[in-house]
Amino acid sequence: MENYDVIIIGAGPAGLTAGLYCGRARLKTLILEKATSGGQAATTDDIENYPGFPGGVGGFELTEKMKAQAVEFGADLREITPVSSIEADGDTRIVKTGDEAFAAKTIIIASGSEAGTLGVPGEAEFRGRGVSYCATCDGAFYRDKVVAVIGGGNSAVEEAMFLTKFASKVYIVHRRDELRADKVLQERAAINDKIEIVWESHLKKILGNGKVEEIVVENKNTHARTDIQVDGVFFYIGTVPNTVFCEGVIEMDVRDYIITDERLQTNVPGVFAAGDCRANLLKQVAVAVGEGALAAVEVDRYIEEM
Ligand code: NAP
Repeated sequence: MENYDVIIIGAGPAGLTAGLYCGRARLKTLILEKATSGGQAATTDDIENYPGFPGGVGGFELTEKMKAQAVEFGADLREITPVSSIEADGDTRIVKTGDEAFAAKTIIIASGSEAGTLGVPGEAEFRGRGVSYCATCDGAFYRDKVVAVIGGGNSAVEEAMFLTKFASKVYIVHRRDELRADKVLQERAAINDKIEIVWESHLKKILGNGKVEEIVVENKNTHARTDIQVDGVFFYIGTVPNTVFCEGVIEMDVRDYIITDERLQTNVPGVFAAGDCRANLLKQVAVAVGEGALAAVEVDRYIEEM
């Protein structure tokens, strides 16, 4: 089994920042990523609230630079099959994937989160045929078409704005009479002619013949149902943490976010968590970067004390 000072699970902003700091501390560092690096941030068209980039920065561009910087300082970044479990054996921490195992003195879990699903009829059936969870990836397929975005948070409104670059019309279907998104985004959505918000409504089903053709929404007060013709449905109803591999080992809250102390250490000594997978108060790239840095410093301190 290969031995490292630290194994970082996840190569989003938290994991890549931790990788940069661990590399600069001259720790033997392995970053494991189950998909392509960059995490959710990499699939964000434009990030406006990460400091240092007036006018915004592309999520892919930003995370590619984070990756280059982590690798520049010696982190070994591997895109592999998903981590299936982690174990503690004395002073050794073990990370298992489907077919491999890696050992280290410490682990930083920076596995992030992914789009939640609603489970309405038609959602699974039309996935990839009109149902999407990534506007940046699929938006260009909807040039001059009509799409619906489900949700009212920052992601829903930001991605609805992005979709107006292609689509002729974008409905935002939101369950309340007020958006959750930041005020600046609300203001922009309100003056965008292509966006229409369907307030206080629930998506009930998605219909079509081989591909999405229509959604049925229900007003939560009147229970009146309306059919809306759309070519695509984008879900932004919140995220779920990528922490299945932690079950039974790492303490988590009721929503499966990892609980840590203020030094970002979990209930297992030598295992730390950072970024969106952690039970923190704010899911932002700036926060993930800060937590990645802190986790790396704590790892260094932990190894020194060993
Ligand atoms: P979010 O902030 O949790 O918003 C989820 C939205 O989906 C809410 O409007 C929620 O409605 C709605 N929703 C949840 N469950 C639903 C259901 N079962 N049926 C219908 N609607 C449902 O999630 P997010 O927008 O994906 O963002 C995740 C985190 O990343 C947040 O902390 C967010 O601030 C952050 N983020 C930040 C930025 C940025 O700063 N630029 C960009 C993207 C994401 P309610 O409002 O009624 O609860």
